[in-house]
Amino acid sequence: MRAIGIDLGGTKIAAGLVDLDTGAVLRRTIIPSEGDKGPQVVMDRMADAARQVMEGKIVGVGVGAPGPVNYQGVVLWTPNLGGWKNIPVAPEMERRLELPTRADNDANLAAWAEYRFGAARPFASFFYLTISTGIGCGIVLNRQVWRGHHGWAGETGHMPVVRQGRKCGCGSYGCWETVASGTAIGRAGSEALGRPVDAKAIFQLAAQGDAEAQKVLDEAIDYVALGLTSLQKNFDLEAVIIGGGVSRAGDAFFIPLRQKTLGYLRHMVDEVIILPAQLGEEVGIIGAAALWT
Ligand SMILES: [Zn+2]
Repeated sequence: MRAIGIDLGGTKIAAGLVDLDTGAVLRRTIIPSEGDKGPQVVMDRMADAARQVMEGKIVGVGVGAPGPVNYQGVVLWTPNLGGWKNIPVAPEMERRLELPTRADNDANLAAWAEYRFGAARPFASFFYLTISTGIGCGIVLNRQVWRGHHGWAGETGHMPVVRQGRKCGCGSYGCWETVASGTAIGRAGSEALGRPVDAKAIFQLAAQGDAEAQKVLDEAIDYVALGLTSLQKNFDLEAVIIGGGVSRAGDAFFIPLRQKTLGYLRHMVDEVIILPAQLGEEVGIIGAAALWT
């Protein structure tokens, strides 16, 4: 069985033809999303991208959107694409492509892709986090994505964790992603070092023994651990899988994160399972197609 997966991002649309037995992406394309031209143009472009990769019999189309999506396949809003408020993306794509279409939030789909084909295969219940410019979260409970009452469960990056904290892209203040994302590491690093640096540079400097960079990392990783601890104290799931740019730092991120999280949870457990995601850049395409598994 094959399905088309469409990964809608702030600047680009990636589409792929996916083998649903193996998760392999058989054909792929990436085009600019031209988000400034509004949702109708973006959806026309998504349909074009899907047609470019279409081949053979297809069970359906899946769309991953960079924002919360309700049970009718309506994108409620997105922080990164202008004019996307209450856009019925699944029905609109079904009409354009004349194929059954499902849609969900991109982090939910990445969680599902890791469950079907990646690092989360051994687990029935887990958190998936993507930590990069922001923090996305997908929750799989008993082998199903938990989408919540309205469909927007997992807006975990916007849990308030700092009282009177920094303003977030969502309009609120002190959200988790304002202190624990790649963007937050870059900003804290730039302030500490007095010159513009990104999260990758901070990891590199810390690896070279730079004490200021190490301090910035320690604080950010501590905030990641605090958030994970809150999640686990509520849900007690089997594992946490982490993808996104920050996870590519490898042991420099995961080893202190496990230590700090275990430190906070030590009176309850003597082990925490926090693993890097296995699927790479194509996780969005694979997850969207896997809506049909
Ligand atoms: Zn926020």
